[in-house]
Amino acid sequence: MAIIRACVEKMTGYTPGEAAGNPRTVKLNQNENRYPPSPRVAEAVARALGGLNLYPDSASRRLRRAAADLYGVAEESVMATNGSDEMLLLLFRCCCSPGDEAAGFRPGYAYYATLAAMNDVRYRPIDFEGEFHLPERLDPGRAKLVFLANPNSPTGTLFPESEIRRLLDAVPEGLVVIDEAYADFAGQSAIPLLGEYANLAVVRTFSKGYSLAGLRVGLGFARPEILAQFEKARDFYNLDRLAQAGAEAALRDRDWLEKTTRLIVASRERTAGGVARLGLKVYASGANFIFCRLAGEARAERVFRSLREQNILVRHFGNPGVADCLRISVGTDADMDAFLIGLEKALEQS
Ligand code: PMP
Repeated sequence: MAIIRACVEKMTGYTPGEAAGNPRTVKLNQNENRYPPSPRVAEAVARALGGLNLYPDSASRRLRRAAADLYGVAEESVMATNGSDEMLLLLFRCCCSPGDEAAGFRPGYAYYATLAAMNDVRYRPIDFEGEFHLPERLDPGRAKLVFLANPNSPTGTLFPESEIRRLLDAVPEGLVVIDEAYADFAGQSAIPLLGEYANLAVVRTFSKGYSLAGLRVGLGFARPEILAQFEKARDFYNLDRLAQAGAEAALRDRDWLEKTTRLIVASRERTAGGVARLGLKVYASGANFIFCRLAGEARAERVFRSLREQNILVRHFGNPGVADCLRISVGTDADMDAFLIGLEKALEQS
């Protein structure tokens, strides 16, 4: 008798971007925020330390109330999760039975397929058309869940609301999941569409705009009747006291978010200009990273390696269609200066 489920034994685990061992590494491979989080976070976490002998609020009420106020939705339309990855897992756990189908756009966030595999769900990639447009004819087939990150990763593409509506209209049976991990840099959200569309779920994270990847907090938005089911299936104490307090403080400090995202967006545009001047094709990005294309897969691989030797980590995906591309997270101006100098050198050498 096999102890391990066949679907788990067969799957390949998700490979996160490489962590840096060296503090001097210019780390531009995981779309982390290189600015510190709001100072209010440390104050709130310090206060929460006093209560660690007691269980946290299982419902993360204060955090959810703050999010509901901010986004103008009912508290019952928000759930708080251990990173947005937990929300993505709950979508599979609650919506899909073994053998069901889920779909997502390609190139996209690879973890959707990993989650599908571990839940014995068939994952169908839908290729973007041309340079990352939603296909003219949207056919989700029998997919129970259809994933689109907006802005998308790794391409950075920002889809306008009209395209999100077109997708929602094309998926009458399943749930459309708009993953807004990078939306704080784009200033656009599908959350206001929740009143109109019952087949919408929106996922947000504190890991990018709020600079709290290490705290592990995400938010899920959907109709209350959907989230009431998800609430039953999550870890009962999914967010500890420090995470709840820190995320709430971050959410309330709007000035900090605006100031730091504005800096990152300015560095993004400056970096994109610098990369284009070096002769690479750079795609428009609404996120905290840029995506650029080199002349050929072998060249992209060589440039990636040369940057790595210079202690600059970026992301190179081996997948067909994007194997000649690199994704570069936008750090501080100093990080991006180091990157542009390193890139010029890498291009000369390769
Ligand atoms: N969605 C997308 C599109 C991402 O790129 C990431 C981060 N790699 C996540 C979700 C997960 O973020 P987290 O679990 O840190 O909230």
